[in-house]
Amino acid sequence: MKDEVLRVYWHDDCLLHDGGDSVLENEPPGFIVLPEPHVETAQRILNIRGILEAGPLNDRVDLRSGRHATDAEILTFHTAAYLEEIKSAAALPEPVRIDGGGTVIADGTLEAALAAAGTTLDAMHAVLNEPGGPVYSLVRPPGHHAQPEMADGNCIFNNVALAVESARAQGAERVAVIDWDVHHGNGTQAGFYDRPDVLTISLHMNHGSWGPNHPQMGTANEVGSGAGLGFNRNVPLPYGVGNDCYEAVLRDLVTPLIDDFSPTVLVIAAGVDANAFDPNGRMVIDMAGFRRMGLIARDLAARHCDGRLLLVQEGGYSPTYTAYAAQGMLEGTLGLTHGLVEDPIGYYPDHSEHGLAVLSDVRDEWERAIGSE
Ligand SMILES: [Zn+2]
Repeated sequence: MKDEVLRVYWHDDCLLHDGGDSVLENEPPGFIVLPEPHVETAQRILNIRGILEAGPLNDRVDLRSGRHATDAEILTFHTAAYLEEIKSAAALPEPVRIDGGGTVIADGTLEAALAAAGTTLDAMHAVLNEPGGPVYSLVRPPGHHAQPEMADGNCIFNNVALAVESARAQGAERVAVIDWDVHHGNGTQAGFYDRPDVLTISLHMNHGSWGPNHPQMGTANEVGSGAGLGFNRNVPLPYGVGNDCYEAVLRDLVTPLIDDFSPTVLVIAAGVDANAFDPNGRMVIDMAGFRRMGLIARDLAARHCDGRLLLVQEGGYSPTYTAYAAQGMLEGTLGLTHGLVEDPIGYYPDHSEHGLAVLSDVRDEWERAIGSE
């Protein structure tokens, strides 16, 4: 049998955004004499593309070019006032931090954000209209913190949410999103909070709210509202957990939800910043862990969606290890149970037992929150 191909959607304009000098994501104080680049770099997706094109998956990668989203497409999820705010900020002569924190709009940012959105829409179109294996949207800036009316956490337009709306408009009855980026998928949660046609599930380190543009807490009692009650689930995890905990969450908490919901298409908000080397995360997943997660996503899509599986790149900020983590994840989505690239990590401490201890608490909290409505 011919090997399944991974369709990878890409647009060169995603490289144009440059967050400038920073301390991780924030304005560097004067006493830092040699600031580093903002952590959300073009380098991280270039290295993922590199490992796919020049690594052992190269003969299974079908690299395709995407496009910019139109204003009308952006408005399927975001408000007109917000789109105007982004355009106005992009027209300023100097870079500006728009959410009181790390989200920078500079020369090239609008082009990059429109390319990330439109390329993800093309990727979803392929998922729905060209059967045959997983589809991966390798884009930046990321999107899952962007809410209908505001930016947050390096995210301008919510690429995943736009793909969900596009799938619904193309006739997909039920769309499930599993967000395994290390941060809470608060923008996607906010946009679909009262809807029963979109199941949103986020696994994340328990970081809580981080400012006015991130009011959601990501706690287990944020379970949706109105008609959407029960259709949003959060799994806040203790810091320091890794492969075993993430696999247990996906098998024991997430799989039953997906089985009940039986989605028409499955979308993964595929941040890999829960990796052990990430400057923005404190989790310790390695390549083998991401491979196991990819395998679970593949199995769920095969069981419910005729294999319709879209992965959209979100976080992943270690300039180099992000590429290894993505390689592991994508091997899993192609059904590979063994890695093709040696993992450069020799040893890491994995405190998954702390996470395994909270799984039943999360399930109880979901039931309490839904029952008390
Ligand atoms: Zn993240």
